Amino acid sequence: MSDITRPPLTLPNGANKLLLHSCCAPCSGEVMEAIAAAGIDYTIFFYNPNIHPQKEYLLRKEENIRFAEKHGVPFIDADYDTDNWFERAKGMEWEPERGARCTMCFDMRFERTALYAHENGFPVITSCLGISRWKNMQQINECGERAAAPYPGLVYWDYNWRKKGGSARMIEISKRERFYQQEYCGCVYSLRDSNLHRKSQGRPLIKLGVLYYGDEDE
Ligand code: SF4
Repeated sequence: MSDITRPPLTLPNGANKLLLHSCCAPCSGEVMEAIAAAGIDYTIFFYNPNIHPQKEYLLRKEENIRFAEKHGVPFIDADYDTDNWFERAKGMEWEPERGARCTMCFDMRFERTALYAHENGFPVITSCLGISRWKNMQQINECGERAAAPYPGLVYWDYNWRKKGGSARMIEISKRERFYQQEYCGCVYSLRDSNLHRKSQGRPLIKLGVLYYGDEDE
């Protein structure tokens, strides 16, 4: 772990065990190190059937597994049930980022996280999704709270990982670890829209698996 000084961190309701939903290594790196530095017992839950194509999914997942193994953190590798994701995304193919499709996407990932927490004795869930400045934190938190609500005693922890230097440390850790730098949010529609935007600017289309944090500094 890094020797960064962070503010004290405690789980809600005096809990001592946490299930952390993770979408990728860059977003979870700072969150993992902050949680570990606070001495909180936690497990990573990787459930992201939104990520497309499978090559990109495996790149993100395997890197997250490597980082978890490096720090001895248990890693739950949940289903890649893309059919269910596409079924729920029907009719929302042209929604903009941060719109209704993203609400569905967060809901789906948090619902599975909350179910796993309920069935396996985790009193608190949270996610690193909100550390990205591209995301709407309120939208994410509403989805997390909605997912935890059906389970008595389960709390969604809405800690703001961006604040108190979190965003800067996310980049610092990503460069230190030379994490893979994804260039779109994750689903096929965000890949399409990112490429349409690039095309309109005369920039080359996204190539999977080529850009790593720190590359652009060299
Ligand atoms: S843009 Fe991102 S959050 Fe929104 S639906 Fe696609 S993968 Fe999910």
